[in-house]
Amino acid sequence: MLFRRKTKTGDSVEEVEKLKQLLNAKSEMVSIGAHQVRTSLSAIKWIIKMFLDGDLGKLTAEQENLLRKAYDGNDKAINLVSEILLVNKSEEVVEKKYVFEKVNIVEMIENTIFDFSGESLWRGIEIIFLKPQTVLPETKVDKEKILVVLQNLIENAIKYSKYHGKIFVSVKIEKENIEISVKDAGIGISEDSKIKIFEKFYRTENAQKKEAMGSGIGLYTTKDIVEKHRGKIWFESKENEGTTFFVSLPISR
Ligand code: ADP
Repeated sequence: MLFRRKTKTGDSVEEVEKLKQLLNAKSEMVSIGAHQVRTSLSAIKWIIKMFLDGDLGKLTAEQENLLRKAYDGNDKAINLVSEILLVNKSEEVVEKKYVFEKVNIVEMIENTIFDFSGESLWRGIEIIFLKPQTVLPETKVDKEKILVVLQNLIENAIKYSKYHGKIFVSVKIEKENIEISVKDAGIGISEDSKIKIFEKFYRTENAQKKEAMGSGIGLYTTKDIVEKHRGKIWFESKENEGTTFFVSLPISR
């Protein structure tokens, strides 16, 4: 007979392990789904805003009234999804399974920038992708998780930029690695805060003033994902001048 190890609650270690895996899978699905929903809702928000701003012609009072209701409802939905993301991320996520496949990083960056085009336009921010001159080799990564890394860095650059700011995204080969950078000219990070920036739940004071919504989990998760790829993440920043985040990922594994 198979010997089954028991935990304090009487469940077998294998059962607990299986439950942990199920919880992780659930948490990951919620996170990916919620991110996608939020991106779509943000695109809708931008389109409604264009109508409300009169960019597409003058509206009748009735049209404006209805669109304003749609705008407010959409905004509530965005906040709700953000809350779901917050709670989901806060759950204790144990070791997640990583599935590595060859991807085209340039394409992934382009798609992520496109997904945020509504949000950035709405905030008067321009995202410029400095595409490499040569074709980059395909990189072996967990696609869904690297997408979360790109989304977090670009979303932060947008959130912490000033109005009319420019964001530069670049990617290049550096020795055996692919190096991605996201540079903004936003609020920056003070010297005192720099050491704490990757800590779970940490948010700087100026970030909290600028953006009430935020969890302080994005960078913690991002660092975890990058390190699980045997990569590195670091940043350079000056308060009130801007921040550049760098991610370096090994090309092959
Ligand atoms: P959130 O953005 O939800 O607060 P993150 O974990 O993504 O959480 O980031 C943690 C903190 O790091 C932010 O609250 C902010 O203080 C700081 N931060 C991250 N990215 C930037 C940036 N591009 N510019 C300035 N501060 C940043």
